[in-house]
Amino acid sequence: MALTPDQRERYARHLLLPGVGEEGQAVLKAGRVLVVGAGGLGSPCSLYLVAAGVGTLGIMDADSVELSNLQRQLLHATGDIGRTKVESASETLWRLNPDVKLVMYPERLTASNAPEILATYDFVVDATDNFESKFLIADACHATGKPYSHAGILNFGGQTMTVLPGKSACYRCVFGEPPPGPTPEAARGLLGVLPGVIGTIQATEALKFLLGAGELLTDTLLVYDALKMTFRRVSVKRDPACVLCG
Ligand SMILES: [Zn+2]
Repeated sequence: MALTPDQRERYARHLLLPGVGEEGQAVLKAGRVLVVGAGGLGSPCSLYLVAAGVGTLGIMDADSVELSNLQRQLLHATGDIGRTKVESASETLWRLNPDVKLVMYPERLTASNAPEILATYDFVVDATDNFESKFLIADACHATGKPYSHAGILNFGGQTMTVLPGKSACYRCVFGEPPPGPTPEAARGLLGVLPGVIGTIQATEALKFLLGAGELLTDTLLVYDALKMTFRRVSVKRDPACVLCG
């Protein structure tokens, strides 16, 4: 599809990129990405995907904006406290790029709604903050064959990995079963910039997947330590005994 003069200017730096150009921009325009979670990780991830011109972005979150979110969740501002996160997010993202079709899901991903919702997307970003959701996303993406980016952050560090179901090591190959009990949310500290680093890597992986560019972060857990300022690549393998993909 041909770009309008405005789009040619907006995406000028993409059009100059070797291997992207106008054709690649059209691929992004046709792309559909679902970001599960409009919080710390979901903020930079969705901002960059929308800025990049990904044609359709789904955002799923059942929560409302709280004051304590604003230290890291850049989709939301002080005036948004009390609004639903999807409402606040859609306004921020629309202001950034009204070209993008935004689909908002003010609900939690569940085993029952996942297959229908995931079916319409090319790539899924796990931007959630609890084990229950992470295992659910891994299972639902495996069942529907959807590639996804996993990420987790805590204190001064984080990790991320991209999964191509049936082809590369999955979340359960690496992490097995959910730990018992709920994620102790209240006890968790988090350096505010941390999701900015990891969520931006997740957006990078989504863009690379859509464009077919480079090598995805598959069979590799990228572990970030902000205090030492190191990125460590840990090789992981598909587990033949994996309950999901073995
Ligand atoms: Zn597996």
